Amino acid sequence: MRGRHADAAAYGLGVLDDPAEFETHLRGCARCRDRVAGFIPVTGALAEAVRLSYLPAEGGAPRRGKPPGPLLLLALGVTVTALCAT
Ligand SMILES: [Zn+2]
Repeated sequence: MRGRHADAAAYGLGVLDDPAEFETHLRGCARCRDRVAGFIPVTGALAEAVRLSYLPAEGGAPRRGKPPGPLLLLALGVTVTALCAT
């Protein structure tokens, strides 16, 4: 199996194509478990942004004509912070 450390962010955000294969790696890699745990607040903020229609649901089109609200800016800030911390 190739090194999978680079897949931690995609797994943490729920967009990894083959999560089962990564989970095998995850069981033996504390570094990746820490990284994945760091994305939990990000995924929560993004889900809330979708719920409030600041972001499109999966496969949906983005809303137009309205500037980003404070929750979207918060979600983006949390995302950038999480990515910088890894
Ligand atoms: Zn790893």
